[in-house]
Amino acid sequence: MTVQEQYELLEKTIRGYNPAADLGHICAAFEYADQCHQGQKRKSGEPYIIHPLAVAQIVAEELKLDSESIEAALLHDVIEDTPAEHADVARLFSPTIADLVEGVSKLTRIQYATKEDEQMENLRKMLIAMSKDIRVILIKISDRLHNMRTMEYQSPEKQKQKSLETMEIYAPIAHRLGMQRMKWELEDLSLKYLDPVGYEEIVSRLDAKSQEYEAFTRRIQRQIGERLDQLGIEHMVYGRIKHPYSIYRKMFSQNKSLDEIFDLFAFRVLVENVGDCYNVLGVIHDIYKPIPGRFKDYIGTQKPNGYQSLHTTVMGPDGIPFEVQIRTREMHEIAEYGVAAHWKYKQNGQGAGTEGKYEWVRRLLENQEGADAEDYIHSLKVDMFADEVFVFTPNGDVQNLPAGATPIDFAYAIHSAVGNRMVGAKVNNRIVTFDHTLKNGDIVEIMTSKAAKGPSRDWMKIAKSSEARSKIRQWFKKEKKEENIANGRASFEQELKHAGLSMKDVTAADSLPILLKKVSYGSLDEMYAAIGYGGFTAQKAVSRMKGELQRIQRQHQAEEEQASRLEEPVQSPPPRPLKSEQGIIVEGLDNCLVKFSRCCTPVPGDEIVGFITRGYGVSVHRCDCPNAAPARRAGQEGRWLKVTWGSDTNESYPTSIEVVCKDRMNLILDISAALSTTNTFVCGLQSRSTEDGFALIRLEIRVRDGAQMKAIMNKLHQISGVLSVSRPAG
Ligand code: MN
Repeated sequence: MTVQEQYELLEKTIRGYNPAADLGHICAAFEYADQCHQGQKRKSGEPYIIHPLAVAQIVAEELKLDSESIEAALLHDVIEDTPAEHADVARLFSPTIADLVEGVSKLTRIQYATKEDEQMENLRKMLIAMSKDIRVILIKISDRLHNMRTMEYQSPEKQKQKSLETMEIYAPIAHRLGMQRMKWELEDLSLKYLDPVGYEEIVSRLDAKSQEYEAFTRRIQRQIGERLDQLGIEHMVYGRIKHPYSIYRKMFSQNKSLDEIFDLFAFRVLVENVGDCYNVLGVIHDIYKPIPGRFKDYIGTQKPNGYQSLHTTVMGPDGIPFEVQIRTREMHEIAEYGVAAHWKYKQNGQGAGTEGKYEWVRRLLENQEGADAEDYIHSLKVDMFADEVFVFTPNGDVQNLPAGATPIDFAYAIHSAVGNRMVGAKVNNRIVTFDHTLKNGDIVEIMTSKAAKGPSRDWMKIAKSSEARSKIRQWFKKEKKEENIANGRASFEQELKHAGLSMKDVTAADSLPILLKKVSYGSLDEMYAAIGYGGFTAQKAVSRMKGELQRIQRQHQAEEEQASRLEEPVQSPPPRPLKSEQGIIVEGLDNCLVKFSRCCTPVPGDEIVGFITRGYGVSVHRCDCPNAAPARRAGQEGRWLKVTWGSDTNESYPTSIEVVCKDRMNLILDISAALSTTNTFVCGLQSRSTEDGFALIRLEIRVRDGAQMKAIMNKLHQISGVLSVSRPAG
């Protein structure tokens, strides 16, 4: 057939199903493609234009697509293989056609390598996701079908490689799109190159028995036909041998020879309406004995790819079993041409459809096997691909990431070590910023360095995947532990103060385990670290501890009042007889009992406030003591008094200091030396090492006034390893 004859056949085919087709444009596309491919030859030696023409023929004959699809099929290789560009096609034909051609070219450019199943599944999804217009994938499958039909001219390696790709990528996509005819042909052609011996064996055996098989087929067709005629049911009966690849698969999976294959024959009855489908089923089961467990009603519950039919397997004459599929003509069209048939019905010959028209197709591609009707409805509601993006690693693996993903997400998807050592990223060989948005089909390469500083906190905001974010958090958690503990502690203390609660109550030996249980951490440092790296918040910590702390606080207050009632000296030694004033002037009251609160241990120079205990004197608090916070005073304002330091203060007052240090040898020695050089009277010293190398030291001392206190604290602060020196309160 000459090129011209082949083109005329194409026109004739198109006219046969689409009288409204724009043959002028189609002819222009043919002539432009012919001109672009001028001088190029196929491996067979034929002029190259034969290939696009044949692809257009498949698009017309097998799929009956619209004029735009035919034009795009004719032009499908001009952008990839000739100097023509998107803009040229857009100008000469239409932007939509240029997009279709560009889309097909993009799929052509993808490099496939055989991978494990999950990788292949990602590749299939990527292909579909990249085909924004479903016609792109339909043209691409047609392109592949023609290449497979003419594979004999390729080298043996190329034959194997393309066949594998077809078997693993294109045939499953054709199946998902419900295009059974093309799927079968793709599978059979692939098998021919993948297992030439196995393929030959099946084909030659089928050939040898063809007369016998045909006789059987005709006999069954006649039996069914006659019965349906008698009943006056309009029908068409077709019989066929199952296709080689499906026989091959059965032989392999069931380890059987060709003669042992259970059902080699398939019959199909096409009727006018759904009611007749069930009538025919009754007739078939009346003529032949049905094999139990083989009846399937895909009319009541259609397959996710839109397939509808009744299936049954029955025992025929001479004990030869066969399958019968019963469906209406419309169901048949959909079974054979799948999405293409839907597409044809939907567009009503009006040319290109909008994006939205194909959305449902993409949605139903996802959950195929074993999905029930409810899943199917659900799958129609959820767009499976809008929230995913598929990109390649430099060696051809597909990474599946959330839509909007960046090189950071990609790097962490490969391995956390790759992310943590990332210093740069390339997309399609060009350097990009870390917040670059990845697109389907991009080839992404991450540049790493041993000297990399590690992730920055900003990455957490840039990353789209929770996987990347959690790995970055992990890094901060591990690498920045000290810093995290310090930061976490600072924000926790601030939050606690804000809530009017006491750090002392948190760290007290009897309450700490209860409080840690409330936040589910093993130690305070663990909790601080978590707050520091962002895995937990200070607000949450305080709000979970609050109830318990308030209870402790009330208990302390009660104890305090009890203590003052019993007039027991509560301070550390040495005990001193209470003087009437103790250096404190209580406004408006002479000769009243004064005691210093245990929670904040004020010293001269501190701003103070007094609280009238029940009949046993005035308790003096620092103004910044949480127990004297305005919130705590509510409802008993009358019991709070203004108090000031007099000029006749005592020689010394008991108070406490808290020191947080990095633990080391001789730490206590250095602290003792500092206390000694400042002439500090020490009443008590408690030290506790934490698991991660810190020491928490509490000093009970006596000081003259705030100035001495300040000097001591400064001195302590100068000691190497000391992180903080503070006066506990509350
Ligand atoms: Mn091609």
